[in-house]
Amino acid sequence: MAGNWKMFKTAQQTREYLREFLPLVETVEGREIVICPPYPSLPAAVEMTAPSKVGVGGQNLHWVAEGAYTGEVSAQMLAAAGCRWVIIGHSERRQYFGETDENVRKKTEAAIEAGLTPIVCVGETLDQREAGLTEEVLLTQFAGGMKGLNPDHFARVTVAYEPVWAIGTGKTATPEMAEEAHRIIRRQAELHYGGAAAAGLRILYGGSVKPGNAPALMAKADIDGVLVGGASLDAKDFAQIVKA
Ligand code: PEP
Repeated sequence: MAGNWKMFKTAQQTREYLREFLPLVETVEGREIVICPPYPSLPAAVEMTAPSKVGVGGQNLHWVAEGAYTGEVSAQMLAAAGCRWVIIGHSERRQYFGETDENVRKKTEAAIEAGLTPIVCVGETLDQREAGLTEEVLLTQFAGGMKGLNPDHFARVTVAYEPVWAIGTGKTATPEMAEEAHRIIRRQAELHYGGAAAAGLRILYGGSVKPGNAPALMAKADIDGVLVGGASLDAKDFAQIVKA
């Protein structure tokens, strides 16, 4: 159950949020909970969550460990800051910052080598869905972003299916639509890495998840969790989603 805070919440706001959120999820069992704040808020998040089971993740990284890459942050730096997770290939990164499947693969490798768990995002745009290209897009993104990983590395990956048309729009894929896409992704995992790897792969759904629709999504066999943007910014809403 992961929260993508995008470019929201200063360190001070992160502390206020966690003071409210942590007691609400203290007794939750059988769920991994992760929040992904912006870089400057990571130290506050790591410090506040240290006594809890809530993990912290970055929202992006560069695949090189260090160097002259102004404005970038490496996997090693995120790990050293106390992150255990990182979102890779989010559609906003693909749309606004030219993220390619090749970059996604390099970032995924770098994250795993630094000991982070990558949450690799895939998903089709509305035009692609309406043109009947959903499966093709998912296959292309899987092939470009993950197929080249060795089996040990693939076992460390979490995938997030995020239809672009459902992100921040209030339009959620129906549980059936999401389930169908998750099956396509799991089939790809099986084809390339075998049945055990496919069964063990965690696939999150993301796209306007709210407390009201989370239970129906979570009830689907192939939906193992959710990646939540907007609703994760509210401590009560995210806690309710976590418990769905
Ligand atoms: C996201 O940014 O990953 C996301 C799913 O956003 P939202 O929940 O706001 O649609």
